[in-house]
This record gives sequence, structure tokens and C-alpha cells, in this order.
Amino acid sequence: MSATLPLPGAKPATGSTPPAEASTPPDAGTPASGDFSHYRVVPARYTARWIGTALAAVLLLALGQSVLGNPRWGWGVFAEWFLAEPVLVGLGRTLLLTALGALFGFALGGLLAAARVSRSHLLASLAWGYTWVFRSIPLIVLLLILNNLGYLYENVWLGVPYTDITFFSYPTTQLISPFAAAVLGLTLNQAAFSSEIIRGGILSVDRGQLEAAAALGLPRRRQALRIVLPQAMRSILPTAFNDIIGLAKGTSNVYILALPELFYTIQVIYRRNLEVVPLLMVATVWYLVILSVLSLVQAQLERRYARGALREAVPSLWQRWLRRASRPQAQPQVTTPLACPCTPAATAGWLASPQRGGEITVRGVHKHYGALQVLQDVNLHLPASSVTVIIGPSGSGKSTLLRSLNHLERVDEGFIAIDGELIGYRQQGHTLYELKEKDILRRRVDVGMVFQSFNLFPHLSVLENLTEAPRAVLGLPETQAHTLALELLQRVGLADKAHAYPRQLSGGQQQRVAIARALALSPKVLLFDEPTSALDPELVKEVLDVIQELARSGTTLVVVTHEIGFAREVADTVVFMEQGRVLEAGPPAQVLSAPQHPRTRAFLAQVL
Ligand code: ADP
Ligand code: MG
Repeated sequence: MSATLPLPGAKPATGSTPPAEASTPPDAGTPASGDFSHYRVVPARYTARWIGTALAAVLLLALGQSVLGNPRWGWGVFAEWFLAEPVLVGLGRTLLLTALGALFGFALGGLLAAARVSRSHLLASLAWGYTWVFRSIPLIVLLLILNNLGYLYENVWLGVPYTDITFFSYPTTQLISPFAAAVLGLTLNQAAFSSEIIRGGILSVDRGQLEAAAALGLPRRRQALRIVLPQAMRSILPTAFNDIIGLAKGTSNVYILALPELFYTIQVIYRRNLEVVPLLMVATVWYLVILSVLSLVQAQLERRYARGALREAVPSLWQRWLRRASRPQAQPQVTTPLACPCTPAATAGWLASPQRGGEITVRGVHKHYGALQVLQDVNLHLPASSVTVIIGPSGSGKSTLLRSLNHLERVDEGFIAIDGELIGYRQQGHTLYELKEKDILRRRVDVGMVFQSFNLFPHLSVLENLTEAPRAVLGLPETQAHTLALELLQRVGLADKAHAYPRQLSGGQQQRVAIARALALSPKVLLFDEPTSALDPELVKEVLDVIQELARSGTTLVVVTHEIGFAREVADTVVFMEQGRVLEAGPPAQVLSAPQHPRTRAFLAQVL
């Protein structure tokens, strides 16, 4: 048998071979020791792929030969004009028009998009009207109208309407030169399209992101610039670049104003020397160059805004080449665990002292959506530092009640107060002044919220998720916010994940980060809306453990959950809700073990 014969290159079988293996007759040609290192490897043959590749090579060769070998393409003339001064001047003008059109167009488009999504109907309608008009008019028509503006209005002036006050007046024909008309036309046209691109991006951002930002009390501007826009950029960028590339080519329309940009210059030259094709090739190659540069910029920007969107970091073009050159696959990115530089002194006042809890009073609260009564005469008193668990069937109004405590929902009737301070109103004597959104956001600092779906900001690292609100809302300096964040991460057992992005974490870890994020503002009250129901069963405990830990820290906790065991162990009060009413409330021993209400008994029988 071959097993007993030493094969060429194979090590002789050693005496240590287990008997079971030795007694199994191996296939013919298999070395007894299992060492194949001296064998020659013949790659699998893919005949069809080879034929396809050969055909493609032949086609490319033929194409190259027909383009380079045919004298009518006039490559000599091409070389003569490609870098000629008039062509470069024309190119410069094309680039300038593209840059100005894109810059002003996207700036105006951004304002229009903001107007479209604003709550003012007039602003929204105006923006809609603008988009409707300027998307309808062909660019060439718009350019000609603008060029003839002097016929319509002799002078352009700035002053107070219906009075004689004039600050500035100038003849239109002198003010609107062909270049100004071109920039204006390209801007007006571009703005109409880019406003829709930006609006599409804004709409693509998950609503939970806005709620999480609002729950942290981030000012509106910061919500827009730091949370919504960076995430919107992912869907804005590809279409925006399509549009800018369109704009670069669209600048050729301004030849109608006799403005010597690239295409117009080329036309002027070939009319003189009759070398049409070579000069059209000069324009084509320059447009190719512009497109390639824009594509590179686009790839870089997309990579930048993809941070956190994928579980793995997106490699740069350069890294991708390197990776391809050095197969097998590069090692997965390793994030170095951050040592927490927290010193007791640095965090004193933040975590060293036990948190002061807030007292919650809910008095006669009603809320309806259309005909649907969601909360009906809800009355509760939750003492400072207490832990309350709300249970009840789906749709009974638990989330609505919780969101009302944070003023994410407005109640129709009744009042909610935290430490005697009314939610949504400022009290002065016997008058209640409704708070502006800015003041509501400021008060949210006292009430933290943890959502069922975590709502972490996916484009920010774990550390940035935690430092965002302390920096923006409390005005903490960066180093102090970092120290605080690391301390909190350590508390929820995730100090080593500071530089990870949320999507690189498990559900349980994400929820623990969300809890740490809410804690970063040292809230008096912390609300949890089914914090474990989006988690796999084995991850539930790690989150409940963190909440249980918090129960002893002094913060008032209100938790909507179906984890009855947790409620029994941790809660001071269990509230049972059904159809918008509180049917029963009391200590767990009473509500869970000896419920008074038949509906509570029926519900518990279902979930236990
Ligand atoms: P729970 O959290 O107890 O499951 P919710 O408070 O989410 O219940 O909802 C209570 C009721 O209010 C449900 O019937 C739900 O369909 C309705 N509801 C919640 N939000 C809205 C809304 N924005 N518009 C209309 N109905 C709503
Ligand atoms: Mg709910």
C-alpha cells in the first residue's frame, strides 16, 4: 500500500502516528504525514474566462489602433491645441463658472431646502414655487432672459419700496455682463435642483435621530448641523456630484451669451482652421479630466461621510490598492482600548457625589390623536430617587406617557411637573407662559431618555456620542467632556469601545452606550422605553444590570418594560396601564403578586 511507501518529498511517517490513522488506508498519492508543502500547485483552469479576456484584449487593441492609426483623428493638431493659451483660458472660465454655480447654487439650494421642511407654510410654499418655476425653464432660455434683463428693467436699485429712499441704483446692462448673467443663470438653475437633493437627504435621516438629539436638549442649529446634515450627506453626495458634473458640462450652454468658455473657444478655433474633430477631442479630453478630478473628490468625501455607516471602516483608494497588492486580506482594524485618564479630582462634582433625583407629579393628564384617546386622566406621584416600572398591553399609552414626561409629546389637558417645575410652561404668579422650543430644550437636560431602538448617532464614535450634549448643552470643555465620557463608559463596562462606531457594537453594548449618553447630562430623571425589547434574550441581562446599578445612584427612574422579574426586584412602584388609563399602581408585592384589578391579573397571566 502507498501508505507504507515513502513518497517523493514527503516526510517518512513517524512512529507517533495514532493507530487509528495508520490503520486507515489513505487515498493513493496522499502523504502519510499530511505534509503537502513540496507539491506543485496547478491553478484551476477557467477556459471561458480566458477566451473572454483574450477577446477584450483584441478589441482594445483594435480600438487603440483605429484611434491612433487613423490620421483623420488629427492627433498632431490635438497636441498643438491641447495646452494652447486660448484653450486654457476657456477651460479656466469653465472651471470658474462651474465652481461659482455649484457654490452659490448649493448655498441657495440649502436655504430653499430648509424653507421646504420648515413649519412655516408660506416659506415652504415659496420654496416649492421657486423649485417648480426654475426646474421648468430650460437653462438656455433662462440665460437668454437674464441677458435681456436690461430691456425689462433699465436700472437695478436697492431702497425702501414705496418711498423715495434709494441706497443704490445702476444701469442693468452694465451690471449684468454676460459673465454675471451666466453665473446668475447657472446659480438659479442649480439651486432648484440642489434644494431637492438636499431635501431628499434630510428626509432620509431616521426620525429617531432627531428625537434622540432633542431628548439630549441639543439646540436646533446643532441638531441640524451635527446630527442631521452629516447623515444626510451620505445620500446627498452621489446625486450632488452627478449634478455638479452636469453643471460642468452645462456651462457649455453659456456659449449662447458669446462667453468664451471651453466649448465656445473650441468652436471659434475650428471655424477658423476647419480642424473640427481634433478640436472637439481637445474639449472631450478636458471634460474627461474635469470629470475624473470631480470623481476623486466625490470618492474622498463619500469615504469621509461613511464613517460609522458600515461595520468596517471604508478603506481609502490608496489602502484598497495596497490591500489588493498584498493579498491575503488585510487585518481587521484594531481599536486600541483607551486608558481612562479619570482622576477623582477631574470628575468631582459629576459622579463622585450621588445624583439628586427629581420628583415627578402627573396631574389629570389627557392626550388624544384625532378621535383616539391615548391618555385619560392619568395621575401619578413618583418620589425623588424612586424606581417606577410601567407595564401594560401594547398600545395602552405607555410610550406616550413617557414621552410626555420629556415633552417630546404635548399633553392636551393636565400638568406634569418635575421638582415642582412644570413641563412646557413657566409659572409666574398664577400665570403659565408656554415655553419656546429653545427653553424646552434647555429643560430637557434634567430628563434623560433611553429608547427601545437605542437611537445612537451612527456617524459619531461612541466617545463623540457621549461628549456631544455635555459640550453643546452644558458647555463643558473638550477634555472635561472626554474624561466624563470615559468614566461613564467604564461604569457601563465599555471603556474599551470609546473609539468604535455604534454599528460595530452588539445591541446590548449599544444600549449601554445609550444609557451612558443619557447619564452624561446628569439628569434628575431617566426614562427608559422598553430598553431591552430590541435585544436578543442573552443580551437583556447586561442592560438590566446597568439599570439596576443606576437604581441605587439616586436618579429617579421610570422604566417601561415587560421584564416582570426585574420589576419585582428593582421597582418601588409598578404601574399597570390599559387604554390610556392607570388601572392599578403600587408596590410590586401588591401589583404583581396580588393584583386587585381583573385586567392586571389577565395581563400578568399572559406575560408571566
Ligand atoms: P404603548 O407604548 O403602550 O404600546 P403608545 O403610547 O405608543 O402605546 O401608543 C398608544 C396609542 O396611541 C396607540 O394606539 C397608538 O397607535 C397611538 N399613537 C401613538 N402615537 C401616535 C401618533 N403620532 N399618531 C396617532 N396615533 C398614535
Ligand atoms: Mg411603546
